[in-house]
Amino acid sequence: MGIAINYVIFARRRQKIEQHRKSLPIAAVEKKLLEEVSNNDILIIVGETGSGKTTQLPQYLFNGGFCRNGGTIGITQPRRVAAVTVAKRVAEECGVTLGQKVGYAVRFEDETSSSTRIKYMTDGLLLREALLDPYLSRYSVIIVDEAHERTVHTDVLLGLLKRVQKTRLQGAMVNSDHTKAENGRLFENENDHQSNSVLKNCRGKKLSPLKLIIMSASLDAQIFSEYFGGARAVHVQGRQYPVDMLYTHQPETDYLDAALITIFQIHLEEGPGDILVFLTGQEEIESIERLVQERLPKLPESKRKLSVVSIFASLPSEKQMKVFMPAPVGFRKVILATNIAETSVTIPGIKYVIDPGMVKVRTYDASTGIEPLIIVKTSKAQALQRSGRAGREGPGKCYRLYPENEFYKLKDSTTPEIKRCNLSNVILQLKALGIDDIIGFDFIEEPDRMAIIKSMELLFLLGALTDESKLSEPVGHQMARLPLDPIYSKSLIVASQLNCLEEMLIVVALLSVESIFYAPREKLEESRLALRSFSSAEGDHLTLLNVYRASDEFLEKSKLVSSKEKAEKNLRKWCKENFINSRSLKHARDIHSQIRRNVEQMGLRVSSCGDDMLPFHQCLAASFFLNAALKQPDGTYRALSSGLMVQIHPSSVLFRMKPECIIFDELVRTNKNYIRNVSRIDYLWLAELAPQFYALQE
Ligand code: ADP
Ligand code: MG
Repeated sequence: MGIAINYVIFARRRQKIEQHRKSLPIAAVEKKLLEEVSNNDILIIVGETGSGKTTQLPQYLFNGGFCRNGGTIGITQPRRVAAVTVAKRVAEECGVTLGQKVGYAVRFEDETSSSTRIKYMTDGLLLREALLDPYLSRYSVIIVDEAHERTVHTDVLLGLLKRVQKTRLQGAMVNSDHTKAENGRLFENENDHQSNSVLKNCRGKKLSPLKLIIMSASLDAQIFSEYFGGARAVHVQGRQYPVDMLYTHQPETDYLDAALITIFQIHLEEGPGDILVFLTGQEEIESIERLVQERLPKLPESKRKLSVVSIFASLPSEKQMKVFMPAPVGFRKVILATNIAETSVTIPGIKYVIDPGMVKVRTYDASTGIEPLIIVKTSKAQALQRSGRAGREGPGKCYRLYPENEFYKLKDSTTPEIKRCNLSNVILQLKALGIDDIIGFDFIEEPDRMAIIKSMELLFLLGALTDESKLSEPVGHQMARLPLDPIYSKSLIVASQLNCLEEMLIVVALLSVESIFYAPREKLEESRLALRSFSSAEGDHLTLLNVYRASDEFLEKSKLVSSKEKAEKNLRKWCKENFINSRSLKHARDIHSQIRRNVEQMGLRVSSCGDDMLPFHQCLAASFFLNAALKQPDGTYRALSSGLMVQIHPSSVLFRMKPECIIFDELVRTNKNYIRNVSRIDYLWLAELAPQFYALQE
């Protein structure tokens, strides 16, 4: 009986999915698109968000025989959440288990198998794959999705794919397994003998040509078309209903408060339909979520049917699919999202959009080498994309939380990331691929010369490059293999020499997630008290380590007396009591086990320094030396490499203590230059442990 009912539910769901697929705008042009892909080695597809590009095209290609010879269709996304959620959705649409025919791979997570033929991944991950398989030989088609986002990884990938495709069209040969092609330096000196000899020396099977598809939500296909020598661009017609635009009369001083008020205004005064709110990050999302939950009980009983869900980059994958589920009957859903919901993921059911007009971006100041995350105004293109989300299924409304004249002052489009980020990671990877001439690389848009030089200088100071600007052995190669920021990679390499890699792995994992401390504005004192038992006078790094170890100990003890699920539930309770963000902690635990595997595979020695934390702090000094700062008479700090005046963030355990000399992990620019994750070091260590920088300054 139960089985029969399940079967009926299952069959109905499949039928609904089939109907949904057929109703998407892209379904009308399936045949035409397949023809276009067959006839063009490079194709640019432009289509409005929600038309079905990301979920449908790979399925069409699969059914159209583009995987026939065992090839895989790879689809890159700028954001991990998009890669994960879309892969899950497509697996469901295909009626297969995730990780079989349809899978995904993002940094620190791999849900694929040898049978995966439709593989979603981040653009950064595909770049890393090229290190092991320079021809990307397992792919028959590569789709670069969301190309309009112009992340630095997308831009570099486009240059790389252009080369790979050219070589594969020439019919290069490789070893039949998918490992490194001969010497793995295919791309060097295209015009000289070396690359020819690589081709000649290659054994095994002939590589098949690679199809390239560039997909974008913005109408500006010109730039991609030109870059690929006049490649063909096609447009998929979307559906868009009218969206009413509403603006505030005055500029809002507190956009979070304005967003909160607007959520309730819509909920109490407007007809049915879900609300999508664009916020800048996890902290804002969690704070609005809490405030909504607190205000709801104050409403009359009949008005409390509001369900809040959120989506942001570091949300654990098991929670991500929740935003796509319909709210319970009679409830209105409020989705709190970062700009991930702008074009990367399409959530059904939205009628109202609240756009405070802000976005968090990474910026890079080549003159100081500082790369802070800052909150800036969106571009016009972003504002239009956001409002468009309200008109997918019917007429909608968009509430811009700024006056109308402000809209016209916005920049037309966002500056590509390659023009405003530190390039050291990318340079490291290009070098590892044998591309030594970074300035001569065929970028779709050239990065600033100064930024390239500064980033090379950083790599040189970290010991990753030789005097001839080649990748050094072993440090440079080791750093290229680790999926981390070069400074973090360096700290792990030094830690293995100083016998504190066990500690540093934990700290790097914790630094790789958003703050694990949860300090709501209204409970600031309470949360500080809770933190006290973990605090170390040496600084935030050791404090982080203490929290992690305490949580680990708690979990292990709990597992002795209860099941794994119960123990994890207990851990969440423990986190709550101690003002720890359990989501971030869980994320850090996952990252920790991944990078531990990475360093073990590389043969680094994982050992602990026990109770003597001296080597651990020396290791911080030896790797974060470019982020060292000295106390000034007025209690602020001067960052030694950039000369910037900075202040310890109030969330730091050293906020009051103010030691003479410190290193920090990150600079956050709000109204002040705040530094976060700070530890005390001895000034004399700098010249001793980083003579390449500090001895020169004498
Ligand atoms: P595009 O890439 O053109 O923006 P997508 O292929 O992402 O479009 O989405 C197509 C449709 O599938 C949209 O209408 C969206 O609402 C729906 N969709 C996408 N992901 C999910 C999901 N996880 N659950 C339910 N519907 C989804
Ligand atoms: Mg898409």
